[in-house]
Amino acid sequence: MDAQLTLLPGDGIGPEIVAQAERVLSAIGEKFGHSFHCQTCEVGGSAIDSVGTPLPEETLDACRASNAILLGAVGGPKWDDPTASIRPEQGLLGLRKELKLFANLRPIKPHNVLLDASPLKREIIEGVDILFVRELTGGIYFGESGRRQHEGTEFAYDVMQYSEPEVERIVRLAAVAAQGRRGKLTSVDKANVLEASRLWRQTARQVVEQDFAELDYGVELVDAMAMHLISRPADFDVVVTGNMFGDILTDEGSMLPGSLGMLPSASVGQSGPGLYEPIHGSAPDIAGKGIANPLATILASAMMLRHSLNLEEEAGLIENCVENVLDQGHRTEDIAAGGPSIGTAEMGSLVVEQIQQQ
Ligand code: NAD
Repeated sequence: MDAQLTLLPGDGIGPEIVAQAERVLSAIGEKFGHSFHCQTCEVGGSAIDSVGTPLPEETLDACRASNAILLGAVGGPKWDDPTASIRPEQGLLGLRKELKLFANLRPIKPHNVLLDASPLKREIIEGVDILFVRELTGGIYFGESGRRQHEGTEFAYDVMQYSEPEVERIVRLAAVAAQGRRGKLTSVDKANVLEASRLWRQTARQVVEQDFAELDYGVELVDAMAMHLISRPADFDVVVTGNMFGDILTDEGSMLPGSLGMLPSASVGQSGPGLYEPIHGSAPDIAGKGIANPLATILASAMMLRHSLNLEEEAGLIENCVENVLDQGHRTEDIAAGGPSIGTAEMGSLVVEQIQQQ
């Protein structure tokens, strides 16, 4: 396969961790005979510094012309003024909007050897393997909002709204993902209170009944789901939900494995390139020290191969190699629990060696 990839290292530890993912992709390319043509572009704070905008036209053009995009992280104290009109995260939001990335996929699968790093008891976290599918371009974050005065009192409002097609396309995507996994799909809403959720529930049920009747399908209210995630997370497979509920539940879910440095995510659209990234930020406190954990970004590159390039075997190999390196006891500082640790590049080298040996 010949694929065009855009790499967006961004800020802080971004360049360090993306460099390791690039090495891993190159090792996969060599092993399987694929040519991954990587073009590196600027985004976020570093792009503001060099060209005055967090999403330069050149970056957007390169992204549009590529098969997939791998991002490190954006932001940092230098650009943190909340009142500034130009901010690093506008680069990321701009990319999602321009590329119409309506679905955010976040797998939550704690690694066996790191189970004790979880804030939950081992018996609760064991066997957890959830794929969150969050709607990313609709709902309350994109509805009408504003303020008004009434009889001397100020009111503020944010409108939650979903259309049938918006719900249908995200539920369809989640259902297809469930078919390729354990066949279980849970839709999360607040249908006991919200009209937008009642339309969500009705549309989701129609989609599943019409085209995915073989799935083990269920619904949960978002408040109950927040509890189930802590009390019985292993019971869930694919979980599909709207923008705001997904925002909150995926952050809750990201705490289950006990380390931010291990979790990848993807944002994908109906067609065109997907955007793959670790869920953590730019970690300015450790940037430049060579100690950041590159595994979330390496695992994001595996998701990229699976979802954008349809290279399932290659993606699985990266995931197995990461598992093997952890099984052998290698740890970066964030997952070492005070024990001996290795640096970013060394961790990347170990994964590359594993790939070459398989
Ligand atoms: P953060 O995720 O960058 O860091 C939180 C803590 O986790 C820090 O102690 C950091 O050292 C550690 N950490 C994170 N990733 C790590 C890794 N790979 N290896 C080892 N340790 C790691 O969150 P924050 O400190 O709240 O935010 C820092 C900056 O990142 C802010 O400017 C924020 O806006 C930005 N941010 C960007 C994204 C993104 O680009 N998608 C996401 C979240 C935050």
